[in-house]
Amino acid sequence: MKAQAKKSIKILVNEELCKGCDICISVCPLKVFSKSDELSSQGIYLPIPIGINKCTGCRICEYYCPDLAIHVVKEAED
Ligand code: SF4
Ligand code: SF4
Repeated sequence: MKAQAKKSIKILVNEELCKGCDICISVCPLKVFSKSDELSSQGIYLPIPIGINKCTGCRICEYYCPDLAIHVVKEAED
């Protein structure tokens, strides 16, 4: 049986596109996101993936973001 490479997951939030609607925070089943307590340069309280270690890479947040501001990246590790 072929060994499966371990995946490293990154959540990229595009600060130029995010409107701070919090949908991603609500829909993530593992509560990966927290809301920043500091305003971004665009005047938005951005979602921060502070629980990234819990993230399964399911992409629900990416699918639900109305502004296409989230990109879930899965990279294979050696
Ligand atoms: S769902 Fe998209 S626009 Fe809304 S807070 Fe999350 S990243 Fe920003
Ligand atoms: S990919 Fe899934 S588990 Fe990871 S932050 Fe998005 S909704 Fe949550």
